[in-house]
Amino acid sequence: MDIRNIRDILPAYKAIFFDSYGVLKNHRGLIPGVQNTIDYLKDISVPFRVLTNDASRSQKSQSERFKELGIQGIEPYHVVTSGMMARQYLKYKVKEGLIAYIGTEQAAEFILDDYKRAIPIVEVDFENAEDISAIVFLDDEGYDWRTTINHTINTLRRVNVPVIVANTDQIYPVAKNDVSLATGGIAQLAESVVRRRFMKFGKPDSQMFSYALDDLNGQGYNLERNDILMIGDTLHTDILGGNKFGARTALVLTGNTTEKNAQLLIDSTGVVPDYICTSILLE
Ligand SMILES: [Mg+2]
Repeated sequence: MDIRNIRDILPAYKAIFFDSYGVLKNHRGLIPGVQNTIDYLKDISVPFRVLTNDASRSQKSQSERFKELGIQGIEPYHVVTSGMMARQYLKYKVKEGLIAYIGTEQAAEFILDDYKRAIPIVEVDFENAEDISAIVFLDDEGYDWRTTINHTINTLRRVNVPVIVANTDQIYPVAKNDVSLATGGIAQLAESVVRRRFMKFGKPDSQMFSYALDDLNGQGYNLERNDILMIGDTLHTDILGGNKFGARTALVLTGNTTEKNAQLLIDSTGVVPDYICTSILLE
């Protein structure tokens, strides 16, 4: 396994897409070296975006969180979330009606337009279930799992409306060796028992990559897909998504993939990054 220094790779690209969790931060806080790397990109005039599978917070609140952790230079416009993609879908494809959500009230607030109403799915009255125009999985928090999952499944048995999964991640790391079930995992459980196909937003799908590229080109850059380097810690979201999009990809070993299991995971999944780097720390 050829481990490269990120400093040698970055200047070869015209734009950098970072994953957030496991690349810039983790359960302990900031990953060392983040500020230097962000500052370095600014110095060499290479724009960046942060692409995160997250539907629990707005861009503004994501940016504020980075500032609280002590990073300067990640503004709301730098952040692209899977929640934003789900929001766009709801805005253009689900014109009116009541949205039933699984997640926190805060997550529901930012995913909805002004004119839509949303209720936690446990408040769906089965007698009037046809009032619902969509069901949205937003977050793994904000509800009692047993009651909510059962109510969701029973709602899904009664209505046939679009079901949107605003974060496809199945698990997320909570300690060095431990993970917790994420929204995508909860949605997959419901999907498999009701035998339906839900609509999923987030990496590895291309929406966030396209959005970020269009956004940069709209700012006057003239980028092709292979001008972009996607840096992530997870093979089946960041690296697979980047590869499918036509970007180049760098796997870092500060999150889901460790130095110990990287080669085994690459061989067994067939998802091959263009580069492997220990972290985004400039050495
Ligand atoms: Mg990650």
